[in-house]
Amino acid sequence: MDKKGIVISSRIAIGISACCMGCPVRYNGKGRDTLATMGREKSDFKWCPVCPECMAGLGVPREPIHLTGGDGALVWTGETDVKNRRGQNVTEDVKFGAMACLETLKRAGITAFVYMDGSPSCGVYRTTLKTTKRGHPPGIFGSLLLAQGFFLIPAADMQSPLKWWDWRRRLLAFYWLKNLEINSKAELYDAWSKLKFLFQELDSVWARAMGRDLAGLSRAPSEAFVKQFKAEALELLRKPSTVRRITNSLWKNYAHYRKTVGKTVDAVNSPDFQRNITTIAKELVTMERKAHEDEVLFGTSPVLYREKRRTAVKPDALAAAAEADTPAEQ
Ligand code: SF4
Repeated sequence: MDKKGIVISSRIAIGISACCMGCPVRYNGKGRDTLATMGREKSDFKWCPVCPECMAGLGVPREPIHLTGGDGALVWTGETDVKNRRGQNVTEDVKFGAMACLETLKRAGITAFVYMDGSPSCGVYRTTLKTTKRGHPPGIFGSLLLAQGFFLIPAADMQSPLKWWDWRRRLLAFYWLKNLEINSKAELYDAWSKLKFLFQELDSVWARAMGRDLAGLSRAPSEAFVKQFKAEALELLRKPSTVRRITNSLWKNYAHYRKTVGKTVDAVNSPDFQRNITTIAKELVTMERKAHEDEVLFGTSPVLYREKRRTAVKPDALAAAAEADTPAEQ
């Protein structure tokens, strides 16, 4: 069985609330570029900004809108309305705008979305700002994204090097697994062996149970079994990890690297060593690069992205390119 990590070179398309990419589309004509901290890594992805309220024809600037009660899902069942600050009912407009944006994302083959939390349209876990208390999450567009099973990344997490690192490695694993064809027991076992360390970090109970189920397979898995495995695994990959679990996993997989390659990496510290999250993110990026150079699976981030031209160059040049991948603030 191949023990190398997985390298994908197709540029993943990600949808994003347009105001989070710096587009001045908010009700007050403002926007904020939450991707600026990514530096050159931004070009590793293809971005598709959409604004449901603009697509609703509400314009910029506009009166802010709010849910009159309930949440965004109830707007779709006709049980609640959306009104602007003047009290005008704009429910049909915002429904149209949300559906138009969803169609755009589908046409672009997008399954991941960076959303603006706190918005009555794009919010997923919050639909109100600190000073307003009208409506409950998710928002009108956010409820569609949830129902469609998108890989949802809060824009605020793009500002933290460690949180973004965690979202990115799970996104790459999610994308790879979602598009993977599994037609035999060997293919299922291979996928499992690549991703199991990440699964163990995210939910050790689920990973143990699934490991037992897989070990008990006597013949080729049924289509239903593979479907269930993929659905549960993809759901797990949507959930963020914690600093404690990430540092433990880093150390465990570094030990595997040392044993396999016979090299040490000075930059990597033990889980108990006190350091800030920026340093932890740097250690992780370093380990991803070292493992890739030495062709060893680094189970903490089993799937990496490399442009074709970068995978073709010599190791020294590759190391320099990987260094440039590091987000600017790290
Ligand atoms: S509708 Fe979404 S994209 Fe448009 S301004 Fe509001 S949060 Fe941003």
